[in-house]
Amino acid sequence: MAGFHISGDPLDFLKGCTIDFDLTTGLSQKVDTGKRYLSQMKGMFADEAAFQAALEKEDSLIYEFHGMPVPETAGDLAFGCSILNPGKIGDEYYFTKGHFHTILETGEVYYCLKGRGYMLLENLEGDWSAQELSAGQAVYVPKRYAHRSINVSPDEQLVTFFVFRADAGHDYGSIETKGYRKLLVERDGAPAIIDNPNWE
Ligand code: ZN
Repeated sequence: MAGFHISGDPLDFLKGCTIDFDLTTGLSQKVDTGKRYLSQMKGMFADEAAFQAALEKEDSLIYEFHGMPVPETAGDLAFGCSILNPGKIGDEYYFTKGHFHTILETGEVYYCLKGRGYMLLENLEGDWSAQELSAGQAVYVPKRYAHRSINVSPDEQLVTFFVFRADAGHDYGSIETKGYRKLLVERDGAPAIIDNPNWE
């Protein structure tokens, strides 16, 4: 299981510190870890019957994220690592919930450490794009765009490093209620972008 550990002296975000992102070892107690299970994503996948069937079998871990406890000020940069498992509900690939920033005018960078997938971007005016993410590629998320990562690999985790303005905050509400305009599904063994039939 991927993760990262911290070596050396205690974290010091005022004087500086070095953090060793090691994807093969366990997690430090010092990071803020969040986990999202299938049961926490009710109503977010397009195929509700497939969602229920999958949930009856197992409440699978969809993704986890590990954030550094950086002070939440405008001059600091929050960063960490997100790990999205492979899998599908119906023909729709596993994804992270996705969010806008509470301070809408803030961007973010994601750098892919492992796996392959997409970053789905969408703004309030309806402009959208799906940016490729594979190991070695970085995606720039512009300010004012909601962002969600999607794992299209059949068997490999999608692991990304992220960094954003530390006071930006997360707004999940509008995505949870309205969803995204577009979905990434498997068609003839390859990823395809379709309109979300349940949007709004
Ligand atoms: Zn963000």
